[in-house]
Amino acid sequence: MALAKDIYKAFEEVVGPENIADDPAILDSYAWRSGLVAKLDKFVPRFEAVTLPKDTTEVQAIIRLCNKCGLQFKASSTGWGPYCDPTGPGVIKLDLRRMNRIIEINEKNMYAVVEPYVIYAQLQAELMKRGLNTNITGAGSNCSALPLAAHSNLGHLSVSGSYGERNQLALEWVTPDGEIVRTGSLAVMGEWFCGDGPGPSLRGVIRGNTMPLGGLGVYTRAAQKIYHWPGPSTFPIEGVSPHYKPSYIPSGFMIRYISFPSQEALREAVRQVGESEIAFILMGFNMAMMASNIATNNNEDAEYLREYTDLVQGPGFMIIIAGNSPGDFAYKKKVLEIIANETNGKALEPVEDPENAGGFIWRFIRVTGSIRETCRATGVFGGEVGGTDVFNLMSKFIEKGSKVKEGFIQKGLLLADGTDPFVQSIEHGHCGHGELLIRYVPSNPAAVQASFEVFMAANRAAVEGHYGVPHHVWSDAVCDMYGPDTSNYTKWMRKVKKTFDPENASEPSHYITAEK
Ligand SMILES: Cc1cc2nc3c(=O)[nH]c(=O)nc-3n(C[C@H](O)[C@H](O)[C@H](O)COP(=O)(O)OP(=O)(O)OC[C@H]3O[C@@H](n4cnc5c(N)ncnc54)[C@H](O)[C@@H]3O)c2cc1C
Repeated sequence: MALAKDIYKAFEEVVGPENIADDPAILDSYAWRSGLVAKLDKFVPRFEAVTLPKDTTEVQAIIRLCNKCGLQFKASSTGWGPYCDPTGPGVIKLDLRRMNRIIEINEKNMYAVVEPYVIYAQLQAELMKRGLNTNITGAGSNCSALPLAAHSNLGHLSVSGSYGERNQLALEWVTPDGEIVRTGSLAVMGEWFCGDGPGPSLRGVIRGNTMPLGGLGVYTRAAQKIYHWPGPSTFPIEGVSPHYKPSYIPSGFMIRYISFPSQEALREAVRQVGESEIAFILMGFNMAMMASNIATNNNEDAEYLREYTDLVQGPGFMIIIAGNSPGDFAYKKKVLEIIANETNGKALEPVEDPENAGGFIWRFIRVTGSIRETCRATGVFGGEVGGTDVFNLMSKFIEKGSKVKEGFIQKGLLLADGTDPFVQSIEHGHCGHGELLIRYVPSNPAAVQASFEVFMAANRAAVEGHYGVPHHVWSDAVCDMYGPDTSNYTKWMRKVKKTFDPENASEPSHYITAEK
């Protein structure tokens, strides 16, 4: 369905003729899905038009027009994930790529304010020059540096640098009905340092553990907490990723991969690492993830995976330690050594080999490997189940899912690729995250069904075992599986949706609808 000429003209008047299109070739380029979601159709429904607003005023005008004309809208920042796709006709795209400015880096109060199309690689490079750093979403530094664009905004630094829900400070938000709302200190005094108040806070409306994935308006600028960076202001690396030359290890930095004889030993080691607050980065990477971070092609990837799998004794974690002084570095190293000894941990030597260590350190700090970790030669990343709560709870939750997955691997339906299970500690153990990737050959319908069954088994386990509401719970169908067992939170979400979006203009397919 093409937009009526007068309606197209109205949008064109907002953004200018160069910043709007309804040309089928352009619309189709936004409708193509990546192999990341290969079980679904190759194309999603076309947008009616794609708009490229330059600022908050233009975003507001587009949203108001959508409300007036009975259209819906959906925003994207970098469009890395599938969540910015529409699921039906009548939707206007807001591609926010022209909103690409770092508004402020406040060194004294340690926050940064960005527009949606600033990516983490840019922000981190600017911060490092100032002795600061940011929690980059694990999806990669190619993604938006607005924590509100990331799904949950968990990343490699989350053990010491937390994640989106907690790093979020003041915000500028164009609500689904076209109001501009500024939260916290921004509303009161034009400053960005606080996201809450005065009085009741809107933070819990605009996001919880995850964000509304396009279903509750558009975030145009936001502040986030930033962190101390004890490393150099630039990383003197040359060459081509992943084989940088020289393999540069900054003074006071160290990387280790430590494997354990059992999940229990791994959990205990993570607990102790958290308690002693020694980790700069800590990720429960498995061998498939480690291999894909160093391989330059699929064959190499398979070889590294075999080599590393033979060298480890069981599940493990990758840890980077960063000393704030020689004494601090020596202390943290010693504590790690004691923890590894007490929990029978064993180091994976190729990771600490000086030839490899520098490249690993940089790739994990800059977060460059996500796409290689998830889309592997053996098959696509067909799904993910996982959640964030208490570390022990999450690691047990994910263990349940991985047993179901194992059954399908035995039957040859899902791929045995060393990807299980992934656990991560956040804020030095204050919270934890568990995650299970499901991988299969997408042309096999039985494999697609198997991946769905793992997903459903994880949902049943989450409800029955009281593991909380995991990250993959978005859309009416999945939210309604959880609502009745979790104080009917869905009723409140629907009230929020109805109140802020009376015309249902903010396309809700990845959030929740108000109808029910
Ligand atoms: C391979 C892969 C790995 C991933 N790993 C992680 C991970 O480790 N940790 C994690 O937290 N997430 C992860 N994700 C999810 C990830 O957070 C998002 O895909 C990514 O961070 C989003 O950034 P983006 O700029 O690309 O957002 P987009 O893809 O542009 O948007 C993501 C969602 O947010 C909405 N949105 C975007 N910008 C705005 C805005 N300004 N206002 C309102 N709504 C907006 C979109 O409509 C969409 O629903 C992963 C995704 C992939 C594909």
